[in-house]
Amino acid sequence: MQIDRALAAWWRTRRALRMDRAQMAAARARAWHKLQPALAQTPALADFAGKALTAFPITDQSDLRADYGQWNSLGLSDLHLRCMADAAEHGAATGDLAAGWSTGTGGGTRGMFVAGSAERADYIGQSLARLLAPADLLKRQRIALHLRAASSLYSDVRGGRFGFAHLPLAPPIEQTCSELELFDPTVLIAPPHRLLAMMERGLRLRSLRRLFFGSEPLSWAETDALTAHFGLRPRAIYQATEGFLGFGCMQGRLHLNDDALVIELEPVERTAGFRAVITDLHRRSQPVVRVRGDDIIEPTGEQCPCGYAGRVIAPLAGRVQDVWHLSGRKVLPSQVVAAVEGVLGGTTHWQAAASAKAITLRTAPGCAGHDAVTALASLTGRAVPVRAMDDLPPWPGPKRRKVVWCHD
Ligand SMILES: [Zn+2]
Repeated sequence: MQIDRALAAWWRTRRALRMDRAQMAAARARAWHKLQPALAQTPALADFAGKALTAFPITDQSDLRADYGQWNSLGLSDLHLRCMADAAEHGAATGDLAAGWSTGTGGGTRGMFVAGSAERADYIGQSLARLLAPADLLKRQRIALHLRAASSLYSDVRGGRFGFAHLPLAPPIEQTCSELELFDPTVLIAPPHRLLAMMERGLRLRSLRRLFFGSEPLSWAETDALTAHFGLRPRAIYQATEGFLGFGCMQGRLHLNDDALVIELEPVERTAGFRAVITDLHRRSQPVVRVRGDDIIEPTGEQCPCGYAGRVIAPLAGRVQDVWHLSGRKVLPSQVVAAVEGVLGGTTHWQAAASAKAITLRTAPGCAGHDAVTALASLTGRAVPVRAMDDLPPWPGPKRRKVVWCHD
């Protein structure tokens, strides 16, 4: 790994965590200026290089994913990059440049991530600065990554004070629990549905000091349940194909990474939610400039006591494709989560799927969801009938979706 780059990113980020909003805006303007040469080498963006950010077009993910050859500054074709990402998926060793596929979200096409070793080092430096306290870096850490695929981003850091274990998601949860007990991690990163399954099996990790979740939403009620079980509040790593968008701070708030990204918020019509239009100020191999994300962002307007000025948003609850459209009114996934978990709490498995004609609330076998049905009917103004079923199997993966909109 390029240690100097990782250290520079760590230092830059630690300073940014103490900046006020005006200082952060000035830092963004400097980073935007430095990014321009890479944009001039990127076919989709070359015509706009040197101009103000707002002069660049807003691009949907699907357009970007249609031709990655247009969206890199290295002169690589779409086919070349796809072959690299496929090879990485099958465990082929990567050189300086790494490409990989993100976890599918069902329905849409998968996103691709391309990064050189300097950018991976930058990402690692940023992550360590945001997620761990400086004192954590002086101690030995055993970091368990319970993720779909081993990422070159993390294996770059192997050695020194950091010991890593990659535990894939495919094996049964019993096996994962045994492996975790044996490894005895100090830091654990896992998707919410697996953390909840570990809790249900009574897993205790005696050395655990930091607990993180990513790749799926985790509600307040579930966060409280996990906190009570593990004795640590799980913190979010908000990572999307478009970049490292946010993180849960030590005070339990989810911040946007406003020091490293320009995140413009585009209203989702007739709701209190927004979509992020994302510009990453530090990615050069595969620039991300004004790319529209899928997640629904709900800013809280809070000033966080942790001191970081990055905007605070509510926990993520779902994607814009899962907003319910009911007889002229829209219901956000976060509203559905609040209505259902206000009744069921954070330890019952459930999924609510709506179409223009009906809503179905499914819960784990034996769990009566009738009171939650009443809450949903009240939330939706009885626009469509709500019915309960208790036949929801355990989450099969790869990603949990609790709130779903079905097109008829
Ligand atoms: Zn904070």
